[in-house]
Amino acid sequence: MKLLLASNNANKRKEFQAILPDNIVLLSLQDVGIFEEIPENESTIEGNSLAKARYASEKAGVACIAEDTGLEVLYLNNEPGVRSARYAGENANSQENIDLLLSNLKTIKERKARFKTVITFYDNGKYEQFEGLTNGSIDIMERGGNGFGYDSVFIPEGHEQTFAEMSFEEKNELSHRKKAIVSFMSFYRKYLDF
Ligand code: IMP
Repeated sequence: MKLLLASNNANKRKEFQAILPDNIVLLSLQDVGIFEEIPENESTIEGNSLAKARYASEKAGVACIAEDTGLEVLYLNNEPGVRSARYAGENANSQENIDLLLSNLKTIKERKARFKTVITFYDNGKYEQFEGLTNGSIDIMERGGNGFGYDSVFIPEGHEQTFAEMSFEEKNELSHRKKAIVSFMSFYRKYLDF
């Protein structure tokens, strides 16, 4: 069975495909003829997740899932949150975002943070949302070369390694995205009347 995933992020697609059952084949935006950037102008993670799912589903005329993820840092009043990809500026890359985060927390002992993923399933004008949270903390420096985004500075609770020091499978076991996907799948099975 085919399901459209409204994301061009190859890392996220890989995490999704590894967690979803084998009988679900994820279609890409290119597969359905969507080549433009989908706008992400909402002020919340939930809003952006919905906007992406709605846009792609309505344009392609098929059911669609989209996700939006943010890093919420307690000391920074849950920043960067919805602005995680643009924390250091509109066209900032991951390294610039990490550098700014570490500098903003330089002398700060309170380093609690969490990743929050919201998946939206959108079909025929109706939608459902599913949340996944991973609690942890921000390291004082970058460690590890795996993963993407803020993985090299995020240590999940109960662990000593950052996500970027873990294998793909280890991160996937603990990840916010996995929790949201598992919750989506329990809904989707009923939705399809498996
Ligand atoms: P978006 O959901 O693609 O908009 O991602 C927002 C920001 O969070 C980007 O800077 C991503 O690189 C980062 N991000 C999303 N998911 C993860 C993750 O699992 N680990 C580390 N960074 C992530």
